[in-house]
Amino acid sequence: MISKLKDFLGFDIKAEKYKLSSDPQFGMISDYKKPDKWVFSTCGYCGVGCGLYIGVKDGKAVYTKGNPTHSVNKGTLCPKGLSEHQLINSPDRISEPKIDGKDVTWNEAFKKTSDTFKRVAQEKGSKSVAIISTGQLLTEEFYALGKFAQLGLKTNNFDGNTTLCMASAVAGYKQSFGSDGPPSSYEDFEYADMIILVGANIADNHPILKLHINKNKKKPFIVVIDPRVSKTAQMADLFIPINPRTDLALFNTLAYIILEQGWENTEYITASTNGLSDLKKHLQDYPPQEVSNITGIEVETLYELARQFVKAPAALSAWTMGVNQSALGTDTVSAIVNLHLLTGQIGRVGTGPFSITGQCNAMGSRESSFTSSLPGYRPFGDEEVAREYAELVNVPVELVPTERGYKYAEIIDAIDRGEIKALWIIATNPLVSFVNQKKLRSALKKLDILVVQDAFMSDTALEADVIFPAATWGEKEGTYTNSERRCNKANRAVEPFGNSKSDFAIFLEFSGYFGFKDLIYPSWSEPKDAFEEFKRVTKNQLCDYSAMSYKLIEELKGIQWPCNEASPKGTARLYSENMPFSTPNKKANLLCVEWLPLASDVCKAFPLMLNTGRTVEQWHTRTKTKSIAILDDLAPEAWVELNPKDAQILEVKSGDRIALSSINGRVENVIVKVTQKVKDGSVFVPFHFNTELVNTLTNSEFCPKSGEPNFKQSAIQLHSIKVPEGIKISEAEVSVQLVHQKVEELNIVIKDKEATL
Ligand code: SF4
Repeated sequence: MISKLKDFLGFDIKAEKYKLSSDPQFGMISDYKKPDKWVFSTCGYCGVGCGLYIGVKDGKAVYTKGNPTHSVNKGTLCPKGLSEHQLINSPDRISEPKIDGKDVTWNEAFKKTSDTFKRVAQEKGSKSVAIISTGQLLTEEFYALGKFAQLGLKTNNFDGNTTLCMASAVAGYKQSFGSDGPPSSYEDFEYADMIILVGANIADNHPILKLHINKNKKKPFIVVIDPRVSKTAQMADLFIPINPRTDLALFNTLAYIILEQGWENTEYITASTNGLSDLKKHLQDYPPQEVSNITGIEVETLYELARQFVKAPAALSAWTMGVNQSALGTDTVSAIVNLHLLTGQIGRVGTGPFSITGQCNAMGSRESSFTSSLPGYRPFGDEEVAREYAELVNVPVELVPTERGYKYAEIIDAIDRGEIKALWIIATNPLVSFVNQKKLRSALKKLDILVVQDAFMSDTALEADVIFPAATWGEKEGTYTNSERRCNKANRAVEPFGNSKSDFAIFLEFSGYFGFKDLIYPSWSEPKDAFEEFKRVTKNQLCDYSAMSYKLIEELKGIQWPCNEASPKGTARLYSENMPFSTPNKKANLLCVEWLPLASDVCKAFPLMLNTGRTVEQWHTRTKTKSIAILDDLAPEAWVELNPKDAQILEVKSGDRIALSSINGRVENVIVKVTQKVKDGSVFVPFHFNTELVNTLTNSEFCPKSGEPNFKQSAIQLHSIKVPEGIKISEAEVSVQLVHQKVEELNIVIKDKEATL
């Protein structure tokens, strides 16, 4: 038996090195795998920010284990976190700098890039060099990069892929509160009496948050609002299958009902808000009966939802991409905030409007990177603010940018117009993640130089003129700030792969080729130098890091800002009784926000609505996860979820393959899952896969305030390769729309699309 087992395993489990022994922190572990050391760190995938340890053996990362004493995750990790060490040794890592696909020295890569950037800036102005970064660098790296772009290269055409996921939350908070900053904490999930999850599939995207809900002893009333019956919907007491992109109308009518019934919190409104009388007038356009027609939600349900929200001693609303990735994203955020302000459901334990961030350090990027504001949430365009920042970091005030440059999609448009000629892309993969791929690909061809800085050979890196190979998670040091404003420490466990360097080291070294290193990075040599400057920059700002230190962050397992002399261990939630809002009169704004129908709704040619999203096993465009077998084997390709009624029309079943098309392009050969999870007329496809590139189909509609794309609703049609019986269509290809046309021609009566063809 033992010898058979030995043959099967390929090693003898009775051998001395495989025996189990006890590790003081992690229990029984095989000697074979027992790390030489455990390195304290933080997960580098999503914005939950789980604490973990990286196990290192013989200089290699061999284990990842949840940190049992970390308040975010209490020792648990999701599948991505548990296998995170494997990404370090991915076969897709880039080990050497490259020019035109050939290995070169760092000096050659830096020289070629700096020469081209300088020439382009000389010929067309400094703003013809643009940068698109990510939400996955460390805060110290974001801060260094922001200084590089804005003070060094003097270009404000600098944005991040965070504009594809969190920009609407940022802009919504700014217009409602006067500043960015999520008000709540994860512990509010543990104390809320009512939890609304709207456009938030946390079971797939932020799985560890469910632990906090499970810890809630009050058995909260959980409402999930989503067009799709996601995994998260299964935890709902009340699931509301809302019509796509109608959430703003829903929140407006809930506010209408609250005011109509006299359920508002007058004391809170008077003390802490502006704009009630205008809002009252505005909401007259959102009577429940009309909104019921828009949203598909029964009037009784609307009243019950409003009643529960007001009745709950503590109500929490959390959202992610379903709200943000919308042409109305910013105003939908403000409509949610309105509801909390009208009822005083904010600033107390278990309450608040709470955006959950997608990437591990989207928050750090928002606070430090110079994209949507000056570092420390300082606004652009205020002379005094600019002077103060210039003095703090000892640079001429003329260098401090006075306004935001182009947002992500505007950068692509400017490239397309020939206005931007050099692009530096850092740790993001637009050739899978950006909307309307056809337009993007044609624009990128017009560049004089495309530089990609990444740890992995992404689809975009493959197209680059120059590649800077970067170190990744586990190979570098700094901080990440999670959705609840908790600054966590990430540490270097192993040496950077091959000849790669940390992003921080790349910025410092590359700045030397432009001659501004001493000005923007005075005596900086390690990430801590940037962190200390950032602490000074944030002092007395809402996102105050001034009392933090690397040591204290590790000791406390993360610290929530603001952290200062008054709150040396951080602050659990914003806008409690003694914390004013950041508007001129220190009160929050109740805002009149308008619902609008979709600009490109379904039509005869494209009769189905495509929704895109994620699955727990994969991360973004799979640059990190596709080589991790335990993840990729579970979700190796995209699929299309199709309601049985639409499947019947197309005569397809689960396991068949179909094509999808929109006005922008076509995707072939996607496997069908017939499911009641999606309503008839709607389909869902995960966006991670370059093999089934669903962003070929998505349109170029954006939120005008945040610049965030309307990823979630694109009108499409489906194509089966089968011809339904009784239908004579010349091509062998059949689409839902063609079937409907034929049905009309043949005068066949159909009920609810259930054609009996
Ligand atoms: Fe990492 Fe997010 Fe999973 Fe936690 S929930 S282990 S932060 S991917």
